[in-house]
Amino acid sequence: MNIPLREPFVISTERLDYLPYALIKIGTDEGINGYGEATPSWASTGETQESVLGAAKLMRQFFIGMDPLDIEGVGSVADYNLHFNSSFKAGVEEALFDIKAKSLKAPLHRLFGQKKEDTIEIPFVVGMKDEGAAVKEISNALSRGFKSFKIKAGADIEIEKNVIRATRGLSSEAKIFVDANQGWKSPENAIKKIKEIERYEIEWIEQPILAADIKGNSTIRKNVGVKLMLDESIQSIWDCERAIEYDAMDIVNIKIAKTGGFLNADELIRMCDEHGKKYILGSMIESSLGTAFMAHFASCRNFLSCEACGVYLITEDTGEGLEYWDGYIRVPESPGVGIKLSEKYR
Ligand SMILES: [Mg+2]
Repeated sequence: MNIPLREPFVISTERLDYLPYALIKIGTDEGINGYGEATPSWASTGETQESVLGAAKLMRQFFIGMDPLDIEGVGSVADYNLHFNSSFKAGVEEALFDIKAKSLKAPLHRLFGQKKEDTIEIPFVVGMKDEGAAVKEISNALSRGFKSFKIKAGADIEIEKNVIRATRGLSSEAKIFVDANQGWKSPENAIKKIKEIERYEIEWIEQPILAADIKGNSTIRKNVGVKLMLDESIQSIWDCERAIEYDAMDIVNIKIAKTGGFLNADELIRMCDEHGKKYILGSMIESSLGTAFMAHFASCRNFLSCEACGVYLITEDTGEGLEYWDGYIRVPESPGVGIKLSEKYR
């Protein structure tokens, strides 16, 4: 799937002119098809669209003949035979959940437990762009009803500071999240940059420096007055365990594409709950399909925020069935994930 974007999406480590993703389709001998969305990101999961397609070609031989309802079993086979490739594995698991829910003629959220809400609040995400354009977009989104704003940082702090200050000026109630996507590089530099913006009542600063530098993140956390979230640093429970050991974060950004699916995401959630850490459900910019999966999952968990912003950034829905408007997404109620893929992507 090459999904067109309204405009290029730029963060400190990547520039996307369109979304180079892959649709995972799993067929069964009972005629039920399941669909999942693999959302590779070279800077986050180390995958590309080509590597996902390669993984699918390779792994078919192991999956064919397995019971699609044994989601854990298929996951184990995937993990044992293929290291990494988390967004591919997430796409496979999504397709299996879709099959399972369809076979029960139930909406997917029923498989995730008790639904707590029918609609999910979504923040407005602002990629890197010139100051005027960013502020205009935020002001517009505020008047349309968005209540929280995720601002990408990690490049030009003057522009970023001005955008954050302007946002705070437009609304004293808006929640502001700042994501540096590893861009501040060293702990010393990150502390300096955070000090320049922390007065604007920021909810949290996300991934200030390199993913691997857990000790550095711990140093930053001790020296700033704002909560620290780790994203690229935390893919697995092993990463999370290490970050907890080093006291390196307050909040974890959990993404299905990083954990390899919902089952592993739940393991991360359990670990966070045990250690008093909060978590959000992060986004890779999913299309309607991946967004619907996120909505089902988020409706049954306690995420501080669900960043399923993809549908606001793409120019066409990959399928029908997802209802969304400014700042909110409705959890689908038809069987399975609830998305009927359009002809082009099926
Ligand atoms: Mg992030």
